[in-house]
Amino acid sequence: MKVPVALALPDGLVVTEIEMIDEVLTLTAVSVQIRACCPLCGVCASRVHSHYIRKLTDLPSGGQRVCLLVCVRKFFCQVSTCARKIFAERLTPFVEPWARVTRRLYQIVQVPGLATGGRLGVRVTDRLGIQTCRTTILRRIMALPTLPVEHVSELGIDDFSFRRGRNFGTILVDMQSHQTIDLLPDRKKETAAAWMSAHPEIDAGRVEIAAATMLLRQPVVLPKLSSVRTGSTCWCAA
Ligand SMILES: [Zn+2]
Repeated sequence: MKVPVALALPDGLVVTEIEMIDEVLTLTAVSVQIRACCPLCGVCASRVHSHYIRKLTDLPSGGQRVCLLVCVRKFFCQVSTCARKIFAERLTPFVEPWARVTRRLYQIVQVPGLATGGRLGVRVTDRLGIQTCRTTILRRIMALPTLPVEHVSELGIDDFSFRRGRNFGTILVDMQSHQTIDLLPDRKKETAAAWMSAHPEIDAGRVEIAAATMLLRQPVVLPKLSSVRTGSTCWCAA
């Protein structure tokens, strides 16, 4: 079986060398894509300007960290009116244009992060042979697209801490699906009321507001969106 197939590399990459460098399985590869289209005008080009090496971190294989050294080409755009005179060929969707890790590694790091959070996520990824850090995991979770808010009949509101005991935000939860709907940058009632006013799909019939201590929960029936009452220390002006 060919190496690109065994490692599920894209068709446009040909592996020319495999070696261990500093305990990292290092694969040297060459891009042999037939088509390289200018990212600005979309016209395919054939005149090569130069080559350069992209260093990419990929998923571990058999517990070994994997690094790809990919020789990619720069092309002259052949459209005289195009503003992009020279461009580098893209390896999408295998890797994003400016990324230093492959998309599949990017995605796999999000999974333990979503399940356990940043700190525990590092422990899990470390056991998987993936070197990362807490802030990277959190950044990749934050990069996930936010799903559009659909009809919510029971809304839960609580505060949470960005920095333990110092900076607080507000978390909004669909109490029926137990899905987080949105995060707000502070815990002021005006911010929460403004968010609800901007989301008419939220049914104001029942809003459950938690106490800051997380111990007491007081279901509050809101007659109007603009009259959010907290009954706790949440969303008071800090
Ligand atoms: Zn162009």
